[in-house]
Amino acid sequence: MPSCLMCGAGATVRDTLCESCASRYVHWQCAECGTPSLRLREVADERLCTDCAVRILWDRVPADVRDEIDELIAEGKHILAIMAFRDRSGIEPKPGIREGVHLLDLRGKVVKRRAPQ
Ligand SMILES: [Zn+2]
Ligand SMILES: [Zn+2]
Repeated sequence: MPSCLMCGAGATVRDTLCESCASRYVHWQCAECGTPSLRLREVADERLCTDCAVRILWDRVPADVRDEIDELIAEGKHILAIMAFRDRSGIEPKPGIREGVHLLDLRGKVVKRRAPQ
């Protein structure tokens, strides 16, 4: 028997989930990049994966605030970077902490690559 992707128990539902996880997770696909995944039913009505959602938010941040956020990330001032993203980007509703943390991740890769060693 294949094992459940979420908990490792025997998968009896579509060869990917056990009964108990199948009652909590649904097969889900991002509307933007098409990445399939399993999502808790509570958040299954979100259309985008966190990657796409944050990338779209980032595109809406004014250029000067973007530079400031990148600088803060490069200096390791992560809390300030998240605060700038939430409070100075002018995006309504304000991006959440979850989006902020994901942005650090996303920009962290770019900023590190750019920084001179
Ligand atoms: Zn399971
Ligand atoms: Zn996506």
